[in-house]
Amino acid sequence: MIKINIIGQSRESLTNQFSELGLPAFRVQQVWNWLYHHGMRSFELMNNLSNEVRTKLAEQYVIERPMVSSAQASVDGTQKWLLRFDDGQEAETVHIPEVDRGTLCISSQVGCTLTCTFCHTGTQMLVRNLTAAEIVGQVMVARDIFGEWPTPFGNRHISNVVLMGMGEPLYNYENVATAIKILTDEKGLCLSRRKITLSTSGVVPMIENCGKELGISLAISLHATNDDLRNQLVPLNKKYPLKDLLEACRNYPNLSNARRITFEYVMLKGVNDSVADAKRLVQLIKGIPAKINLIPFNPWPNSPYECSTPQAISAFAEIVYRAGYASPVRTPRGRDILAACGQLKSESVRKRKTKICSEADEVAA
Ligand code: SF4
Repeated sequence: MIKINIIGQSRESLTNQFSELGLPAFRVQQVWNWLYHHGMRSFELMNNLSNEVRTKLAEQYVIERPMVSSAQASVDGTQKWLLRFDDGQEAETVHIPEVDRGTLCISSQVGCTLTCTFCHTGTQMLVRNLTAAEIVGQVMVARDIFGEWPTPFGNRHISNVVLMGMGEPLYNYENVATAIKILTDEKGLCLSRRKITLSTSGVVPMIENCGKELGISLAISLHATNDDLRNQLVPLNKKYPLKDLLEACRNYPNLSNARRITFEYVMLKGVNDSVADAKRLVQLIKGIPAKINLIPFNPWPNSPYECSTPQAISAFAEIVYRAGYASPVRTPRGRDILAACGQLKSESVRKRKTKICSEADEVAA
């Protein structure tokens, strides 16, 4: 019999499954607490369950996390893990420590369909959506690495989670939603909804749901202030142009000055970094409680763009700031371990290809 991974099952689904196994609903809470509060990896050690219940669970389920296939640490403390799933597919997870918080950047897909031209992940074809177990598993692996069990109340290595890794999370909404409900469950991993940010390149019809159903923070991968340019940088714009995207932002549930939308804007030399661009940007987002993250472009091999000059970035930031918006320039982190999002995966694919080719050469020789 094929066993099911118990990680990533929603509470509702687990309650139904347990009931079919003849287990009362309170067992769900007990098991949930072991899995997500204590990070337990074996039914055997769940000592408030009878032997009979433990055996029953072990017959039906496994407790599985992704495997760390490679890990890199930057001099600035950033850590990056390439995680391998059951079928051999891989995705990246990055931990960025800061003075007042620790942010885990997780992936929602293997590869991406959206081909944003400044993004290295966009050069890799979409392989598949990650399951809820694989999305939650990224957080659990990081917690294992930091020994952060049981879930601490404060002072956490992982206080914030951003869905800004590989993939477009709103193209994998169902699994992402299940995963977020597990991550924010107060009796388990207990992450604050406000400290989870989903970044989308603009899948307009799903944006409202994201606010209503999940109540998490929203970031928009904006990068351009007119449709012509955004069509080039973020081709999804052809389907959901700026006007529709900004309208969806204006209607995002529960927006306030304390709960602002983050607009991400990658600074590309001579492409989107002029004074006119900055002025257009503040006009475009007028009336939306927002902050703008200016991201110096991180070049990757054969990338068609260069990073804007420091002067252009500060002139741009100044205009945005004067218009009343926070406009932090994101400090590049972990530059020594990666040049861009998606690089670790490409590197591992390259190494595996080289290995396969040299093995093939040996066979042929
Ligand atoms: S920026 Fe995001 S949506 Fe665009 S190609 Fe990269 S991973 Fe995909």
